[in-house]
Amino acid sequence: MSTLHFASALLPSGWADDVQVVVTDRTITKVTAGVMPGSQDERHKLAIPGIASLHSHAFQRGMAGLAETRGNSADTFWTWRETMYRFALDMTPEDVEAVATLLYVEMLEQGYTRVGEFHYLHHDHDGAPYANPAEMATRIARGAEISGIGLTLLPSFYAHSSFGGTAPHAGQRRFICSIDQFTKLTDATRSAVRALPGANVGIAPHSLRAVTPDELAAIAPLAEAGPVHIHAAEQIREVEECIAWSGRRPVQWLLEHAPVDRRWCLIHATHMTETETAALARSGAVAGLCPVTEASLGDGIFPAREFLDAGGRFGIGTDSNVLVGVTDELRQLEYGQRLKHRERNVLSGGPGLSTGRALFEAALTGGAQALARPTVGLQADARADIVTLDTAHPSLSGRRGDAVLDCWIFAGAGAVDTVWAGGAKVVEHGRHRLRESARETFNAAVRRLVS
Ligand SMILES: [Zn+2]
Repeated sequence: MSTLHFASALLPSGWADDVQVVVTDRTITKVTAGVMPGSQDERHKLAIPGIASLHSHAFQRGMAGLAETRGNSADTFWTWRETMYRFALDMTPEDVEAVATLLYVEMLEQGYTRVGEFHYLHHDHDGAPYANPAEMATRIARGAEISGIGLTLLPSFYAHSSFGGTAPHAGQRRFICSIDQFTKLTDATRSAVRALPGANVGIAPHSLRAVTPDELAAIAPLAEAGPVHIHAAEQIREVEECIAWSGRRPVQWLLEHAPVDRRWCLIHATHMTETETAALARSGAVAGLCPVTEASLGDGIFPAREFLDAGGRFGIGTDSNVLVGVTDELRQLEYGQRLKHRERNVLSGGPGLSTGRALFEAALTGGAQALARPTVGLQADARADIVTLDTAHPSLSGRRGDAVLDCWIFAGAGAVDTVWAGGAKVVEHGRHRLRESARETFNAAVRRLVS
């Protein structure tokens, strides 16, 4: 057992002063506000909960920034994807472990304490399954174990190159599973994370491009009590091809044909009509927004104002991991809306309300729902995922309450100080305890891949 004391902390009920948090066995067991620090308490100034990156493809961290030279023709998501495929085809299990470990170290340094890993790089270079079908998933789990981040592992089912069951192409061979292979892979993935504290498993049918309706129905039971994540409506071309195939748009098709509810998370859902936006909000599913990647890939802007007005829930993900930061995602989400609507503080929820607080709390609870974590935040029974901010950071000086979140998100890059993940103190003074070794291993792997 350990006890922490914070001069100020963001609890589920709001900001409180003089907060003592008792941590027993990776879990918060008691939170008391308005108490003076005890002699055994470790004292800090300002605490907020750690939150989830609900959508990550870890291996893509290795190619961050490598697709920023314009090609000969129109440079789009689809040309970026060719670079990503080439990179994926070269990686060994050791490379994946090295890249995932550094990525998760970086996430923790930024205040992410859990990751939803949407994992589709399954097989050996020639497309044949490894002897352990979950070899790559095991490497992801190892990265989570080394770094200390909480893991929700979402093995992805990927079978086709486009709508209507089109055969996959050679560049996709390391992703492709039959239903039988995927069943074995999911079982082996559960075994791979069994010993990892707080880890859970869901499934991720990749997209309606990659999965037929029959396959979607066949794999659904494999989620058991875990979440179901699917990419949907990220690109206009995808929407057009979905209409050509089914007469329906991707989100519309899913809402009409799949049991989309609170267990589901639709990643991106960028291109929706007003009707789809309201219906997705009503379904209770989480919209998994990845604003930095969506901007990087030129996807478009999610209808966030309309979705929140309709009662929709969202969480944030780092997706391609081109840039890793809680504040970067939340700021990009709000700035996209400002540019679209030509207004300020679009997502605050109303007059007098803080945009930073609204964004942070929505992403905290939406991320927890999407990763099937029932209790989150600084309260009893939640995993002890706690972040302190450096109150001496120039952008936070003199700030209190919601102004801290506003200033951190919109002006406070680099203000994360200490991070506990599952009760273990992994980041101090903004540095993960394994930052150097994780960088060395990552750099050695990526130098070879890039050359
Ligand atoms: Zn994705």
